[in-house]
Amino acid sequence: MKDAYVEINTSAIGKNIRNILQKYSNYDSFIAVVKGDAYGHGFEIVNTMHKNGIEHFAVSTIDEAAGFRQYNTAASLLCLEPVAIDMLDKAKEYDLTIVIPSLEYLNSLITADPDCSLSVHIQLDCGFNRLGIKDEDELVKAFDIIQNSCLKIEGIYQHYATAGVFDPHFDNQARRFEYMCSKIDISKIPLVHMGSGVALLGHKKPDIANTTRMGLLMYGYNISVQSYGNSIKDRIRSLRDKYYQRKYNLSEVCKDVKLELESAMSMHCRILQIKNVSAGEHIGYNASYTAQSDMKIAVLPVGYANGIGHANNRRKVLINSKLYPVVGEVGMNMICVQIDDTVKESDRVTLLGDKLTLGMFCRGSGMGLAEALVSVGTSNERIYTK
Ligand SMILES: *Cc1c(COP(=O)(O)O)cnc(C)c1O
Repeated sequence: MKDAYVEINTSAIGKNIRNILQKYSNYDSFIAVVKGDAYGHGFEIVNTMHKNGIEHFAVSTIDEAAGFRQYNTAASLLCLEPVAIDMLDKAKEYDLTIVIPSLEYLNSLITADPDCSLSVHIQLDCGFNRLGIKDEDELVKAFDIIQNSCLKIEGIYQHYATAGVFDPHFDNQARRFEYMCSKIDISKIPLVHMGSGVALLGHKKPDIANTTRMGLLMYGYNISVQSYGNSIKDRIRSLRDKYYQRKYNLSEVCKDVKLELESAMSMHCRILQIKNVSAGEHIGYNASYTAQSDMKIAVLPVGYANGIGHANNRRKVLINSKLYPVVGEVGMNMICVQIDDTVKESDRVTLLGDKLTLGMFCRGSGMGLAEALVSVGTSNERIYTK
C-alpha cells in the first residue's frame, strides 16, 4: 500500500455537473472555476467537466492557464487575475480570455499592443473592494475603448463579498452591478455573471445575469444555507433575519437546496506501526497528549507535508468505517491516532472521504472548505478512478 495518496473519483464530478446544469437550466452558460489546481483535483479533470457540458473555464493565473492547456486546448479559458502586460504573448499562446480590471490597465494594454484581439471580460467592483472598475464613468470609457479596439468583449462580471444570508451588503452589490451595467449597452456583451456557487444556490437568478461561475459545487459540496433549528438562539436569529429583511428590503434566501452532489476527493494512508501506551505516558512533540488510561495507538505517515495542517481540534480518521481520534500534535510527516483491538497494521486509513466529510475534516483542522481541498489535493499523489 502507498504511504499516503488522494483518490479523485472523476465520474462523481461528471454526475455533479449534469445535476447542476439540469437544475439551473435557466442559466445559458456556466463558468467552471478550476483555480488552485482545480481545487486540488488536478487539471486532469477538466475534460470530464468539458464533456459533461461546461464550455467556459476560469483559472487565476497565467501559470495555471499553462497547466490547464496541457489537458484541454478547446474550451474557453478566462484568467481571473489581470495578466501582466509583459506576459500578453503567453495569454495569446494559451488563447486566454483576459480580465479588464481598470481603465488604466486597458490603456496600457492597448498602448503595448494596439492590434491585440484577445477576448475580454470587464470586471466591476460593486463593493468587494478587490479587483475591478468601481466608477460608472470609468466603465463607460472602458467599454467605448474596447468597442473601438480589436479586443472582443465576451463578458462582464462582479464577485460577491458575502453569501447574502439576510445581509444588506449582498443586495447592495447586486443593485450596484445593475446600475453600472445600465450605463452601457449590455446587449453587446454575451456573458453577464455575478456570483459563485453560494449565490447560485442561495438566490434566484438575477434578471440581468445569464451565466454563473461555480467551484465547490462541481467537486461535490452542497454549500446551501441550512435552515435554523428550534433552539431559542435559532428562533432569535430567525426573527432578526425577518426584521432585517423588512428594514433593508432584502431578497429572499433559498435554504436547504436539494441538489445531489457526490464529493470526488478522498485521502487515505497506511499504518506505520501500532503500539501500546500506558496510563500517564505522553505522546508526540511537546508531550502534548497524556494517556488517561492504558491505550493503543497507530502511527500514520501523514502531516504538514500532506497538507493536513498543524491544528488538532479533535480531528478524526476512519478505519474500517469507524472513527478514531488523533492524539497529540500533528507533525511534519506523522500523526498518531488512538485505536482499539480491531485495527490491524494492514488496514487502510481514511483521512478525508466516506463518512469523514469535508466539513468534519475542516472542523478538525480549522481550515476552510476550499483551503482543505487545495491543501490536501496538491500535497499528495493523486490517483484517478472512474
Ligand atoms: C473562486 C471563485 C469562484 C468560485 O467560488 P465557489 O464558492 O467555489 O463556487 C467564483 N468566482 C470567482 C471570481 C472566484 O474567485
